[in-house]
Amino acid sequence: MKRLAILGSTGSIGTQALEVIAAHPGKFEVEVLSAHRNTALLIEQARKFKPNAVVVTDENKYKEVKDALLMLPIKVFAGQQALADVVQWESIDTVLGAIVGFAGLHSILAAIDAGKRIALANKETLVVAGELVMQRAKEKGATIIPIDSEHSAIFQCLVGEDMNKVEKLILTASGGPFLGRKPNYLVNVKASHALQHPNWNMGAKISIDSATLMNKGLEIIEAKWLFGVENDKIEVVIHPQSIIHSMVQFSDGSIKSQMGLPDMKVPIQYALAFPERIPNTYKRLDFKEHSKLTFEPADYKTFRNLAIAKDALYKGGNAPCVLNAANEVVVHAFLQNKVGFLEMSEMIEKTMECVEFIEHPTLEEYIHSDAEARTYTTEFLKKSQLSIY
Ligand code: NDP
Ligand code: MG
Repeated sequence: MKRLAILGSTGSIGTQALEVIAAHPGKFEVEVLSAHRNTALLIEQARKFKPNAVVVTDENKYKEVKDALLMLPIKVFAGQQALADVVQWESIDTVLGAIVGFAGLHSILAAIDAGKRIALANKETLVVAGELVMQRAKEKGATIIPIDSEHSAIFQCLVGEDMNKVEKLILTASGGPFLGRKPNYLVNVKASHALQHPNWNMGAKISIDSATLMNKGLEIIEAKWLFGVENDKIEVVIHPQSIIHSMVQFSDGSIKSQMGLPDMKVPIQYALAFPERIPNTYKRLDFKEHSKLTFEPADYKTFRNLAIAKDALYKGGNAPCVLNAANEVVVHAFLQNKVGFLEMSEMIEKTMECVEFIEHPTLEEYIHSDAEARTYTTEFLKKSQLSIY
C-alpha cells in the first residue's frame, strides 16, 4: 500500500490521479490532498478519499474548508508553508506534484528534502530550478518519476538501458490546435480558440502553452534535467496523432518508443505504481483505427516560443526561470484576452533581455529572478494596453 500526498488534487492531473487511485483499491491510500481555490471540489474529494489532512493554499478559504469537514477526522491546514510542512510527514511515501506553475516549487523542494518519492507533473519546477532540484534529489535520495507523457515515455524507454549509449531523446509534439497556421492567422486567435486542444483535455495554462508550443520548449528543459543529457541531444518532432509519446535513439541506431492512446491516466498510474506495472481497463490502442502516424518538423519561425525556450536552455542559469515567469504572466493575460497570441512571445523575449543573468543561482536568486521577471512582463503588458487605447 503506497501512501500518497496529491498536491493540486482539484486540477486536471489531480482529478485523474484520484480516478487512478479509485480504480485500484488496496494499492494506494490518500494521506493528503491540496487545492488552491476550488474548495467545493476539495471538500467533496476529502469526503470521498478520507485523507489524514487537506491543505488549502489560499488562506482565505481556510474557514470554509474547516467548517465543512468539522465532523470528520481530517486535519485542515492553509497556506504554502503548511503544505511544505505536511509533505514531509513520515506517513507519506509518494508526493504527486500537480500544482501548476512556479507555485509548485516550494512544496516539491520540501518533499525532496524529506527524501520522498516524487511523481512529478509540475514541469515548471524543473524548468525554473532543474539543476538545484536534481542536485538536491540526489543528495537526499529522493526519486523523481515523471508524469508528463513525453517524459514518462522516455523514462519507460530507458528502463534497463545504459545512459552512455543514448544518442538522442526525441520528444513528440502534437503541434496543438494551430498546427500549420501562419502569423497572419494567429494574430487574431482568442483564448477560447486556443483552449481547444485536438488530443488532450488539460488545465488552462498548459493548453495555452500547447497552442504556442511553449509547452514543448518547457519540456525540452524538463528533459535535460530529468535525464541529465546535453542540450544538443534533445530533439522535437511534430506528431499530430499523439500516439507515440516520445522516443529514445541509441548508439546502434535503434529507436525505442512508447505508444498508446493519449490518456494521462496511463503515465499517472505508471509513476504512482513504479516499479510495478499494474493492470487497468482503460481503452486500448487499435492500430486499425490509427493507420496513419505522421511526422513533420516544428515551425520555429511561426511558433517563436519554442525558439525562445531553446535559447533559454542553451543560455542556462536563471534564463529558463525568467522565461517561465514571463510566460506565466502573459498566459494569464491571454486567458483574459488582454494580450494577443503573437505578442506573448515579444513580451517574453523583452523580459529575458531585462533580467540580469545569473549562471548558478541559489534558491533565493531563483525566487528573486522569478519576481523580477514578473514585474517586467507586467509593465510591458500595461504599456501595450495603454497603447491600444
Ligand atoms: P490545472 O490548472 O487543471 O490544476 C492546477 C492545480 O494547481 C489545481 O489543483 C489548483 O487548485 C492548483 N493551484 C493553482 N494555483 C496554485 C497556487 N498558487 N498554489 C497552490 N496550488 C495551486 O493544471 P493541470 O492539472 O493541467 O496541470 C498541473 C501541472 O501538470 C502543470 O505543471 C502542467 O504543466 C502539468 N501537466 C499537465 C498535463 C495535463 O494533461 N493536464 C500533462 C502534463 C503535465 P484550484 O483549482 O483548487 O485553485
Ligand atoms: Mg507533455
